[in-house]
Amino acid sequence: MTAKSNADLMARRRAAVARGVGQAHEIFVDRAANAEVWDVEGKRYVDFAGGIAVLNTGHCHPEVIAAVQEQLGLYTHTCFQVLAYEPYVELAEKLNALAPGDFTKKTLLLSSGAEAVENAVKIARAFTRRSGVIAFSGGYHGRTMMTLGLTGKVQPYKSGFGPFPAEVFHAQFPNELHGVSIEDALASIEQIFKNDIEPERVAAFIVEPVQGEGGFYVAPVEFIRQLRALADQHGILLIADEVQTGAGRTGTWFACEQWGVAPDLITTAKSMAGGFPISAVVGRTSVMDAPNPGGLGGTYAGSPIACAAALAVLRVFEKEQLLARSQALGEHIRTRLSAMARELPTIGDVRGLGAMVALELFATVDGKADVHKPDAALTQRVLREAAQRGLILLSCGSYGNVIRILVPLTASDALIDEGLDVLHASLK
Ligand code: PLP
Repeated sequence: MTAKSNADLMARRRAAVARGVGQAHEIFVDRAANAEVWDVEGKRYVDFAGGIAVLNTGHCHPEVIAAVQEQLGLYTHTCFQVLAYEPYVELAEKLNALAPGDFTKKTLLLSSGAEAVENAVKIARAFTRRSGVIAFSGGYHGRTMMTLGLTGKVQPYKSGFGPFPAEVFHAQFPNELHGVSIEDALASIEQIFKNDIEPERVAAFIVEPVQGEGGFYVAPVEFIRQLRALADQHGILLIADEVQTGAGRTGTWFACEQWGVAPDLITTAKSMAGGFPISAVVGRTSVMDAPNPGGLGGTYAGSPIACAAALAVLRVFEKEQLLARSQALGEHIRTRLSAMARELPTIGDVRGLGAMVALELFATVDGKADVHKPDAALTQRVLREAAQRGLILLSCGSYGNVIRILVPLTASDALIDEGLDVLHASLK
């Protein structure tokens, strides 16, 4: 058998796979364990991309794999709506208990983040009997038509796919770096109420606690509290899209636990099941129960294999104290990135929450980063250089100039420092 090469597989991929499916690195994986990946040519990489925030417990965590193998020996699929099974119910009970808010909660399981967001909007509409939804500039909520409508970040997601669902509006996301204050963001909502849709016709606000694809901008807690107050004033629901922030990445299971106010609905997915496809909407019982029986669900929604994996991920978090690890790791990474920023003027900002950390690269003017000149080309060069040196990184942000770090929380300190050293060398 001839040895496989990344180049040959890339050629086959280009011929066989739709162009619209992007790919950050021209690398094909052979195997992976925890925070390390080996490609088909045998080269080893430290993985700081984590499957886009899916691998908080690392690649192939032994406890997750064992739980899945046990489930495979029992049954793999029935469709929960036809023949129910306990792992779905147990996972719902656990998520209800984890979600913040001094009220009873219920959970709906699905398969992808976009599906969770779609369903949160459906549930909000069914409960409020209103149609409007207000999302935020720079936000990302998925690739289905409604979630694209909600998505504020245009390139590359939205171009060519419209028209998008009506009754969706975008307010400004507060962003100090780009001169948008909390007051400006709140004023932009009032403008929408005045110009586009009366508040009595708005079903929900949807906001990411930390904008993920948008560039790791953290929503200021004060803004969220005022958004909650505005929602209460007008009978609007607050949806926290925690598809990227949930499952322990930010130092709490849900990032919104750090708000001090509770959303009505939370969407979560990605790292919930250590690499197996599952997502959830968790929320206030009265709201979750608004749709009629049969209105929610899906053939594969809450697959028993993914439920078994998700329950194992929760056990791993407990056993390995991964919430505390997420906080400590975040601090360590931020400290090291801040030191790099002091040395390298092109790094204009280091930010994040818990272990969801990023740095942003700008062109320099007079030896200082110019935040009006995001440097996407330099960012891509750094990513390529890092990959050459054996580190997988991902960019994000509306201008493609943010390097995000989504290393497994289970990675050793030595491996994390190895990756940060490569990042440092690549930036230099
Ligand atoms: N919402 C947020 C905040 C996300 O970050 C993502 C994916 O990156 C989605 C929704 C969509 O999730 P999925 O790709 O699983 O459909």
